[in-house]
Amino acid sequence: MSGKMSLTTKMLVALVLGVATGFLLQAVPEVVIMGHSVNYLFVEGLLYFVGTLFLNGIWMIVVPLIFVSLIVGVTSITDPKKVGRVGGKLALIYLLSTFPAIGAAMFFGTVLNPAAGVTEESISAFYLEPTIGTPPGVIEILLNIVPRNPFAALSGGQTLQVIFIAIAIGLAIIAVGEAARPVRELFVSLNEVIMKITSVVMKFAPYGVFALLARTFSMLGLEAIRALFMFVVVVWLALAFHTIVIYGGALKIFVGRDPHTGKSINLATLFKKASPALAFAFSSASSAATLPVTMKCARNLGFSREMTSITFPMGVTLNMDGTAIFQGVAAVFLASFLGVNLSAGDILTILITATMATLGAAGVPGAGMIMLSMVLMSVGIPIGAIAFIFGIDRIVDMPRTAINVFGDFIYGLIVGKQEGMIDFAQFNSNTDLAAMEALEAMESGAAATAGGGE
Ligand code: ASP
Repeated sequence: MSGKMSLTTKMLVALVLGVATGFLLQAVPEVVIMGHSVNYLFVEGLLYFVGTLFLNGIWMIVVPLIFVSLIVGVTSITDPKKVGRVGGKLALIYLLSTFPAIGAAMFFGTVLNPAAGVTEESISAFYLEPTIGTPPGVIEILLNIVPRNPFAALSGGQTLQVIFIAIAIGLAIIAVGEAARPVRELFVSLNEVIMKITSVVMKFAPYGVFALLARTFSMLGLEAIRALFMFVVVVWLALAFHTIVIYGGALKIFVGRDPHTGKSINLATLFKKASPALAFAFSSASSAATLPVTMKCARNLGFSREMTSITFPMGVTLNMDGTAIFQGVAAVFLASFLGVNLSAGDILTILITATMATLGAAGVPGAGMIMLSMVLMSVGIPIGAIAFIFGIDRIVDMPRTAINVFGDFIYGLIVGKQEGMIDFAQFNSNTDLAAMEALEAMESGAAATAGGGE
């Protein structure tokens, strides 16, 4: 794992090395020196230490990350000049569309049950014991959303409460307006700082992942490994289903045809023209980093400038169907893997928490995984269970990020058509509008410089 490798490569190397080391540990005979088992010291000493240190790092950032990024997300939708109706509609559709995504994910997760066949033995070998309290009823869950003590909610990591406080503060900042500008700026700046800390924690991720995987696989049987493979397959399947059925259907029903030419607006054209953004999202696993590419694709797809600048920056934070799908499958999978029965109340809680968690998730690699801890916490699945899927997160992060970005195009087209902010002639044409605009901007910049900066 040299410093020159990209994080993706490091993660993949850590994944393979971790699994291989785990198996090796199962195979090697026990070595005892001065009455101490070296194998035990390695697994329960070194691997445990590095793995737990990494998990602590995630724990450390999760509450501040969701709290601050959600406040920034909520307040960013109300730039009074741009937003209003379009922003409101988009926010609503971004929010509501997450429910069917998680619903479908949990359905796939339950029906295809990737954890099926995992025996009692392999569960008890898994080093994290489930610590399940009595699940609260639906009424309690709803009542509990409003915290009596917001500081206790933050320090105790009370998921729904943290989200509630963040939204309340965000809305209040908007309502106060000008006088609250410094507060918003403070949160925007804090967000940068927390993102920085997150990226440092992520740098440590390959080592943490190696230790966690090696320790886990030194205890897990083959059927658990098969379960992990199935988990990845189910996430990919649920993502594909969502793209084809939900996005394809939404496009047909809500966008339909070009109002001028009667030409139908199809998924394939959209896919083709959005593909630079999708490919970038896939390889970077960051919808935030993809934003500039996404916005160029949007111009080529006929989005007006205004529509582009509202839809996509908002979508980066607020619209994450792919992440929601991942969280739905993961919650069902880990519950099943640890033998936790999810009640109807739990399902509702997952639906609400995962929706809120995607609102709070920053468009950075692994954010959905960090937010998953909040979803798990909310239904009493031990957060350490994340360790089991952490090592393979990248494999599911790449496609879910691409779907997160693709969803922005779909919902943008739906709202944009209603508002008359899409040029469908451009949608169907081959003109590279974004490239032309970039050239124009360069030329006018050059002219301005030549003209004394006017
Ligand atoms: N990587 C995703 C994104 O940038 C977020 C996630 O981890 O789910 O959209």
